[in-house]
Parts: sequence; C-alpha cells; structure tokens
Amino acid sequence: MTIQILYMEDNPLEREAFVRILERSIKGDLELDTAVTGEEGIEKIRGNSYDLIIMDNKMPGKSGIEILEELKEMHSKTPVIVLTGSGDEAIAVQAMKLGAKDYIRKIDMSPTRIIAAINEVLLEVNIPDDISREALKSIQSIFSKTDFINIEQEIQLTSPQLTEEISPDILYGLERLASNGIMEKTPFLSTVVCPSCSAHDQKLRLKCPECSSTIIKRNNIIQHYTCGHVDFEESFKRDDGNLVCPQCGKELRTIGVDYTRPGLSYKCSNGHLFTTLIMQLQCTECGETFDLDEAPIKIIHEYRLRREGKLKLQLGLHVETDHEFLGSSVS
Ligand SMILES: [Zn+2]
Ligand SMILES: [Zn+2]
Ligand SMILES: [Zn+2]
Repeated sequence: MTIQILYMEDNPLEREAFVRILERSIKGDLELDTAVTGEEGIEKIRGNSYDLIIMDNKMPGKSGIEILEELKEMHSKTPVIVLTGSGDEAIAVQAMKLGAKDYIRKIDMSPTRIIAAINEVLLEVNIPDDISREALKSIQSIFSKTDFINIEQEIQLTSPQLTEEISPDILYGLERLASNGIMEKTPFLSTVVCPSCSAHDQKLRLKCPECSSTIIKRNNIIQHYTCGHVDFEESFKRDDGNLVCPQCGKELRTIGVDYTRPGLSYKCSNGHLFTTLIMQLQCTECGETFDLDEAPIKIIHEYRLRREGKLKLQLGLHVETDHEFLGSSVS
C-alpha cells in the first residue's frame, strides 16, 4: 500500500520545487500525482482514490474554492490542504469553511511545514482522535524498534527486541488502531491467569496424590518380581554395582526374569511412589495456589503495525532539515 497524494499546481517552477521537497523529505511509499488545471484535478479525483489533495488556490479554469465546492457536491471524503498566496486570509477562512483540513501560506512553505501539515491531516483522518498524542508517539517509537509486540499482562509488552511497561493509554491506542485497521491484531497464545488477582506469572507446584507432600523426586524404578518390591533404582544399587533388593535381600540377576524396569516414577518424602502427580499453580503476585482446571484461560494477542499504518504513523518522523525554503520562488 502507498499513500497517494494529488498535487494541483499550475506554476511549473512551484510544482517542481514542491515535488522535490516531498520526494526528499518523505522516505516511504508515496505516490505523487499532479494536475495543472482545476478541470484536470477534478477529473483525476473522480477516477482515483487519493489519501490527500494538496492544491493551489489560484489555478486556471477553476479556483480552489470552486473545486472545494465541487468536492462537497461529490461527497468526497478526501482531505484537502489549500495553498494560499499572501493576503489571502479571507480565502483561507472560506476554504476551511468548505471543509479544507488545513491551509499553508506559500510564503511559509518549508519542508517541515509541509510535512507537518500532511502528517497532521493524515493522522487526523486515519487515526482515531481519542488516542492521546503521547500514546501515539510511544506507539510510533515502539514500532520503530520492532515489527510486532505481544501484550502479556495489561501492563507490559514483549517482543524479541524489547520488553517495556505500557500505560493504559498506549494499550487503549493499540486497541483503537487495531479496530480501525491500522494495526493488525491476531491471537498469539493462550495462558492461564490467577483466579484471584489475574496475574500471569505462576510457579508450578508438585504434590503427592496420597499425602500432599510437596517434596517430590523423580527417578527410574525397579520392580523385584520375587517379592514385589518397587523402588527407585538407586535403592537397589550396591557399592560393587550389583542390584540387591532392599526388602528381601536377594540379588537381582536377569532383567525380565527376576526384575523389571517399568520406567520413570515420582516419589514423595514419605516414600509414596506414583506416576501421576498433582500439579498446582501458585501465583507469584498474590501467592494464591490453584488447580489448572479452575484457572481462567486468557488469549494473548500479537499486534503488528500494517505497512500502510507504519507509513502513516511515521510520515512526520522523516522530515529533513528546514533549510530549503520555497518562499523565494513563489508569489
Ligand atoms: Zn494472584
Ligand atoms: Zn506421599
Ligand atoms: Zn525383593
């Protein structure tokens, strides 16, 4: 996706200078279309969907004001920035009344002023206005460092590149940008949260199913066929390496004949052997202990700034120095 701007200007010198400023100042996918008369402009607007129209107020054929009136009749929603000559304050006021989003006096034109105006208008049109400027700047800054983030707890974001605390304002901003399509929000993984305080960080606690002991070991077990004794392999091992049953005192000679190794087992501090243990989660925030089955499951989402969204958010960041002024070459 690119941002499409229609620039309407009859004076070739001004047109060249303006195009040069835009192309130098905005690095990104910008498609700049131009029209040299009002009629040509209207024609192009009818056949294209521009993100922004920038037009000189004084053009042959139709004035900027007349074009604004026509756009109004066409129910065009494309934002318009009007360029006015000095002493054209009344025209600027009229233009704003007819729905222009902003105006720039040609005498004030500088790369900074132009880009700032474009950025303002695009932000205003594309970004919900209930997101605070501060939150927008933070979101811009976050996505200049990483391509995607996950919101793990409502207070923290993570990505391979960074882990940051986030404010409710930023979270709100992300949600709003996701709802209007600038941000892409997709389910990322599921996690359980503490039933009492909703925190995401838990420790896994192991328990014996018979006595609730919380001291558990895991090891390979041996079963002695002759007497039926079952225990960890280590309790059968003698110093010389031979296996001797600690219950009946007989030596274990042949696997499969007088003993077997059924595999791994757990053993509690009271000597109970079991293969299925009780697993509980303990919240690291509030200390509450709970079963997995009783804990609410929460889906963690991943947020990505769409390519177009990135450009829209970052337009204002790519302003070059302010030394190149158009003022001298224009009326
Ligand atoms: Zn908790
Ligand atoms: Zn036990
Ligand atoms: Zn035995």
